[in-house]
Amino acid sequence: MISVTEARAALLDLVSPVELEVVPLAQAAGRVLAAPVSARRDQPPFDASAMDGYAVNAAEVELHAMFKVIGEAAAGHGFQGRVGAGQAVRIFTGAPVPEGASFVVIQEDVSRKGDLITITYAPGDNANIRDRGRDFRSGQTVEAPRLLRAPDIALLAAMNIAEVPVRRRPVVALMSTGDELVMPGATPGPDQIIVSNTFGLKAMLEAHGAEVRMLPIARDTEASLRMAFALAEDADLLVTIGGASVGDHDLVAGVAQSLGLERAFYKVAMRPGKPLMAGRLGDQAMVGLPGNPVSAMVCGRVFVVPMLHAMLGLPTEAEVPKQAPLAAALPANGPRQHYMRACWDQEYLRAFDSQDSALLSVLASADVLLLRPPHAPATEAGEMIDYLPL
Ligand code: AMP
Ligand code: MG
Repeated sequence: MISVTEARAALLDLVSPVELEVVPLAQAAGRVLAAPVSARRDQPPFDASAMDGYAVNAAEVELHAMFKVIGEAAAGHGFQGRVGAGQAVRIFTGAPVPEGASFVVIQEDVSRKGDLITITYAPGDNANIRDRGRDFRSGQTVEAPRLLRAPDIALLAAMNIAEVPVRRRPVVALMSTGDELVMPGATPGPDQIIVSNTFGLKAMLEAHGAEVRMLPIARDTEASLRMAFALAEDADLLVTIGGASVGDHDLVAGVAQSLGLERAFYKVAMRPGKPLMAGRLGDQAMVGLPGNPVSAMVCGRVFVVPMLHAMLGLPTEAEVPKQAPLAAALPANGPRQHYMRACWDQEYLRAFDSQDSALLSVLASADVLLLRPPHAPATEAGEMIDYLPL
């Protein structure tokens, strides 16, 4: 058995960043920027009014000063002339500040009669002008790699970047194995259950940027497994689920090896999830997850998501656990790193009584995974404990 840290390092070694592709900006959200991009213009591209009001020369601004309004500047329609002494231009938010003006008196500080305005409230020091390039300058870069969130997309749009170089979505094939499994919506036989892991993992991996293919459920026969492996050949990463221990019906390792799997490791000292197998199979990486639903999901969270990050060119440093106080004492841990399902009880974390790796209802109620290192001593209520958010 190897440690979680060793397993993680070996898994990251199995993958490398996928190629770039260029996508329209409207499709770039949630993708990983793969090369730096630079602003193609200044923003704002001119000194712009930040308020609705009157543009005047700052030197003339004082309480009771009067100005003659000689024109209007609106967003998208600048004023073409020059603002001279004693003159003002009616101006609106986003309009270019006309030549000769250096201050926008907000309309609330002014009274107007015909073409004449008088400053009736002291305007203060704020000129209400956004200087050219105040947001960003032409040539300013957004560095890669970067996971593009909604604010990044807005920034790239303002920079006039219509097409964005991103990492291709890594293709992940998910293969559930077992004679007992049928698809949701089907009518199970008396000895059968509904496949859940493929669906849970698909949701998890898609949320982290994968393109997921669900393979047909493989039966517990070599022929069926071989057929499913063949269907997965073009994936960057093949994830098998179940059939990975050493029972008579656990055929995944044998079939994978007969197809040329170079095995990196087989067992990891963790709970849940001990039978975890990984290696390279031709051009692709393969990970064999345990079948128990909670084990499969925890291994997905702890191992497969970081592999995806590596394929997307994102940093792969180990996630730093967060910390919170425990609501109730926990006994000493055994030799395997334990990922305990737990939930918030006000600002405390409380582990669920049952940590059985088959209980999806418990996992779905959990907010976090408590992290208990191998041989961790008993922990008292109120002591701080590491956790990973779910
Ligand atoms: P195995 O690793 O194949 O021995 O499976 C361990 C347990 O997990 C068994 O109870 C299986 O029925 C269950 N199991 C395996 N694969 C899945 C799956 N894809 N969805 C739900 N349960 C599964
Ligand atoms: Mg099985």
